[in-house]
Formats: sequence, C-alpha cells, structure tokens
Amino acid sequence: MDQNEALALLKPHLKQERYDHTVRVMETALELANRYGVDEKKAELAAIFHDYAKYRPLEEMKKWITSTYLPKDLLHYHHELWHGPVGALLVEKEIGITDVEILDSIHYHTTGRTHMTQLDKVIFLADYIEPGRKFPGIDEVREAAQVSLDYGCWMATKNTIGFLMSKNQPIYPDTFYAYNALTKAKN
Ligand code: GDP
Ligand code: FE
Ligand code: FE
Ligand code: FE
Repeated sequence: MDQNEALALLKPHLKQERYDHTVRVMETALELANRYGVDEKKAELAAIFHDYAKYRPLEEMKKWITSTYLPKDLLHYHHELWHGPVGALLVEKEIGITDVEILDSIHYHTTGRTHMTQLDKVIFLADYIEPGRKFPGIDEVREAAQVSLDYGCWMATKNTIGFLMSKNQPIYPDTFYAYNALTKAKN
C-alpha cells in the first residue's frame, strides 16, 4: 500500500485537524526512521493509521475490548487510552494490515510498553514531538529525540507520567513499564 492510498483510506475516519496531525506524525516518523535505521515503509504505514480509531464511539470501543483478546484492565482507565489497542484491531480487520510490528506500534502508541521495538519507539516519539504539539517540556523531548530513540522516548514517558501525576490522574501500568525499561536502555 503506498502513502497516498493509505492516507485516502484513513481520511474519512478523522476530523481535519486530526488528519493534519497524522500527516505531521508520518513526516516525523519518516525522519526518525531514516535517522535511526528503522524500516521506513513500516514507520510510514504505522504512523498513518496510529489514530485510526480516535473517533469511534466509546460504546463501540468498549464492545471491542470486552469481546476480544484486548486487555480488560483498559476499561478501568481513561477512555483516551482505548483508541490505540482498538485501532490496532480495526486496522487489521478493516484495512487488512497483518504485519504484527505495525499493529503493535499502533496498539502501544499512547502508553508505550516494556521492551518497546524500534518501530514502537519511532511511532511513540513521532506522535509526541510532531511540530504541531505544544506540551509543557516538549522542547526537552525534541532535543532528546536528536540524541537517541531511547533517550527521546524515556523523556516523553517521564514527561507524561509527571503531567498525569500533577493532575492526580491514574497511570496505566504499561506507561510505567515503558519508563522503567527505557531508564535502563538509555544509558
Ligand atoms: P493523540 O491520540 O495523538 O492525541 O495522542 P496519544 O495517543 O498519545 O494520547 C494522548 C493522551 O493520553 C494524552 O492526554 C495523555 O496525557 C494520555 N495518556 C498517555 N498515557 C496515559 C496513561 O498512562 N494514563 C492516562 N490516564 N492517560 C494517559
Ligand atoms: Fe493517539
Ligand atoms: Fe502519544
Ligand atoms: Fe496521535
């Protein structure tokens, strides 16, 4: 599937601003993949479809989590976390992508996970630092992304955990697992 075909399949599922975000994630993911020697074709496709399920109704996402292999503990956390795992499932079912590395990087793009693959890291980090993002602390993460994938992702997980804690929000275990694994890996 080439880039234009993939973007055309994606477009009807997103609002314009989310589509624009996706194009920036794709461009950022291609840069990171090129810089760090990760498969650019996989990075491109994973980035294009990473937010595929972002606008599915909550009831539909809940149904997919309840009725499939997806982890049930997601239901006890913020629904913002559901679109990654559900997206991976629907990209396989509806778009026909079967590459497990691509599907996993979509699944884990919001939280990360322990022992992230290089492709997971490219998508996770591209989603965080694409030029339209304005999180507090973003400049430090952008600089870390120039040092290494591990350092960039570590800084992003650290930032996310700090942000969520400052808002008294619960933190999904995979986010801690990602942070812990990256704490060791970045050195
Ligand atoms: P987007 O889909 O492009 O907007 O970006 P993401 O898929 O990374 O989703 C971002 C949202 O998920 C942000 O509001 C984060 O703060 C939130 N988020 C990320 N990790 C966690 C977590 O472990 N727990 C909770 N509650 N929210 C999280
Ligand atoms: Fe997302
Ligand atoms: Fe993210
Ligand atoms: Fe995104």
